[in-house]
Amino acid sequence: MTLNLERMEEILDGRPAYRGRQARAAVFSRLCRSWGEATDLPQDLRALLAREVPLEIPAFLSRSADGGTAKAAIRLADGETIETVLMRHRPERNTVCVSSQAGCPLGCVFCLTGDRGYSRNLSRGEIAAQVLFWSRFLKESSGRVRNVVFMGMGEPLLNYDAVLGAVRIFNDPEGLGIGARRISISTAGIVEGIARLAGEGLQVNLSISLNAPDNPLRSRLMPINRTYPIEAVLKAAAGYIEKTGRRLMIEYLLLAGVNDSPAQAGELAARLREYLPRLFFVNLIVYNQTGKYLPSPAPAVAEFVRVLEGEGVAVTRRYRFGSDIGAACGQLAGEAPVPA
Ligand code: SF4
Repeated sequence: MTLNLERMEEILDGRPAYRGRQARAAVFSRLCRSWGEATDLPQDLRALLAREVPLEIPAFLSRSADGGTAKAAIRLADGETIETVLMRHRPERNTVCVSSQAGCPLGCVFCLTGDRGYSRNLSRGEIAAQVLFWSRFLKESSGRVRNVVFMGMGEPLLNYDAVLGAVRIFNDPEGLGIGARRISISTAGIVEGIARLAGEGLQVNLSISLNAPDNPLRSRLMPINRTYPIEAVLKAAAGYIEKTGRRLMIEYLLLAGVNDSPAQAGELAARLREYLPRLFFVNLIVYNQTGKYLPSPAPAVAEFVRVLEGEGVAVTRRYRFGSDIGAACGQLAGEAPVPA
């Protein structure tokens, strides 16, 4: 298994506590690429860890033409491939997008990951390995990962324990040291998961993909809506805001002629204001064309924004990024080649 943290903990269990601290520092703070570099550990322990918990992360790297985005296809021990993306739009704003599952069971119709189907949940170590990969990569240019977003393959709240385990690893000040406020979890609206996350006392950001103002359309785009319809999702969202006092992001992917009319913008604003009286904003995402749909044209996007803002709803727009290497939203399909 890539970064088998469970096995690492088993091996370190029963040894003096400082050995555990040294081993974790080697992996997450000094970013060692092999146990051979962890020279503060005794040789026999290094050899055992090298055999049982290899630190190598086999990956195939591709970069966008503008250099702002890179994608790594990581091969896991069982042959599954997952993808993770590094976005470098401003100096020192390095953001890593991580996958939480190999494939995804939710089958949103606009998403290539949904097309690929579902293989399995990732372990905490397999999620952490993605950020570790980019931390090592950035270390070469004295950079570091600043933000982590769970927006890659999979539905994070269907792999709750591993995702939260990984969040704690990212957050550890003695390790990667990524502040909770710089970590975002994006969900298609798993109601129980939203309620559970609200009770964690964590400062992480939550975003919910809505993508439609009404249930018939949302069920067509996102089959999970038949289990968790808009009302249930927005009630859970309101509970989350109430309990955490944190601002929530509603994601809305604009598809030409499908969900981008001014009337739909009005309906969306009314729905949101009915359920979420405060502390939310809408992030509009321009679709990266993957064959099935067309991105909304700029005038339609501008009109959608105008209607939402006219109804008092705060709006942001996510940039397109990395579409030439299949690294943008909805384009992670695990198809890139990986080295043998
Ligand atoms: S958009 Fe997200 S939840 Fe939907 S199929 Fe793709 S990865 Fe899964």
